[in-house]
Amino acid sequence: MCQIIVINKGEKEISTPRQFREHFGFEPAKDDHYEYVDEESCLCQCDVKATLENFNIPFKTYCGDYYVGLLDQVIGDEDISSIKNEITR
Ligand SMILES: [Zn+2]
Repeated sequence: MCQIIVINKGEKEISTPRQFREHFGFEPAKDDHYEYVDEESCLCQCDVKATLENFNIPFKTYCGDYYVGLLDQVIGDEDISSIKNEITR
């Protein structure tokens, strides 16, 4: 499964480096496993996590997808693990 970036709870989905650049205004960082980035291919070629962190963009991850924008009602992996911690405590 290719990673995607979900904007504002599904308002928009970003699945290629070109869409990433058009939305955020800068290039996503290349993943070390790839020689070069094909703009029209999938975001797996990019290190989305490092890029979002570098630009201080808040995000959540869920099953390999990234959520950016409206996050208050998005339940990400981090939230699920903290919920599990609550239960097992
Ligand atoms: Zn892919």
